[in-house]
Amino acid sequence: MCNVQGGRGAGLYAPSSRRKPGSRTNLMSDLNLDSGFRRNDDKKTTIVARKLLAWFRKHGRTHLPWRGETDPYRVLVSELMLQQTQVERVIPYYRRWLKRFPTMTRLARASETDVLKAWQGLGYYRRARSLKKLADKLAACGQKALPTTRAELEALPGIGAYTAGAVLSFALDQPEPAIDTNVRRVIGRVFSCSVTRPRVTFSVDDDLQSIARVLFNKNSPREINSALMDFGALVCTSRAPKCDACPLKTSCVAFKNGGIDTTTVTLRAFSRPRPEIAIGVLREGKKVYVSKHGALLIALIDGSDARTSLKALAREYHSVEIAVRPAMAHTTFNGKPASLHRCSLLYGNTKAIRIATQRDLRRLPKRSKDVLEILKLL
Ligand code: SF4
Repeated sequence: MCNVQGGRGAGLYAPSSRRKPGSRTNLMSDLNLDSGFRRNDDKKTTIVARKLLAWFRKHGRTHLPWRGETDPYRVLVSELMLQQTQVERVIPYYRRWLKRFPTMTRLARASETDVLKAWQGLGYYRRARSLKKLADKLAACGQKALPTTRAELEALPGIGAYTAGAVLSFALDQPEPAIDTNVRRVIGRVFSCSVTRPRVTFSVDDDLQSIARVLFNKNSPREINSALMDFGALVCTSRAPKCDACPLKTSCVAFKNGGIDTTTVTLRAFSRPRPEIAIGVLREGKKVYVSKHGALLIALIDGSDARTSLKALAREYHSVEIAVRPAMAHTTFNGKPASLHRCSLLYGNTKAIRIATQRDLRRLPKRSKDVLEILKLL
């Protein structure tokens, strides 16, 4: 993180009150969390898994060079490169990288300059730095390979829940869910329902993971996870899902709920209103940033989408560029529908913020802690 032309005296998280009358305290007063998911029965998941695998074996993206790869390091490289980058763009970089750094040990021996040079053009260099840091850390412990448990992987720099699941399932065929945007969308649409559970600790991803684990039943986790991702990328797409030709449509709750209107598919799929407020938490791995205003970044969504609104807010009011993850859960905020997002700092003025200490976290209002807990940051 570097500093640029100084901020405007504003902390990172002020905001909703600056864009609309009303204090932050008042806005925080009615946070209720809701969800549109429930666990489904085994019979349905068995049928969905069978149809999904049949589709995948015929139409899956088998040309991807990391498909079928069983070396955890190579899978990790592909997953980090694929973050926020188009698949086809990653392919040549992936091949070049593995020629240059075929093993974790070779990567550890390389200089950071060489590593960044090999990454040049892919952007978001933080991924390359994390990979190098990770290789150095393992080398310092005398380890030549990545660990093979989720807990150990998630303790390494740059590896979160999704990446750990991807490495373990793709490389080692372990029954670990890897919930990315595509998987979240497919499972969400196929299994979503209108049940509301207002408890604040609810996390949408918990239910998605439970469903993914049932889909693994007697199937290869590697194949199921690959199939879910390809299906989300090629059939059950965000804006133009091919419902008419979809092999899952007889099982799909979103489709049954009146069909899919491509302009409002997400809303119909989850039976929830379009968010009017976006709530973000800026974090680095599991660590959370705070400012004198607290730990939440709150943006009104006016004429844009939630992620763009949060980015614009951070840029306009705080002189920082941030990356915003897709919504992990939904809530109401001051009576308005709101989406909850994890955010990462890319660059900009960081004088007004700092990584929260345990004391900072203890002093946060309960409702902020609820949000952090849902985003798995507490
Ligand atoms: S029917 Fe439509 S929304 Fe449902 S899984 Fe198929 S493509 Fe996705």
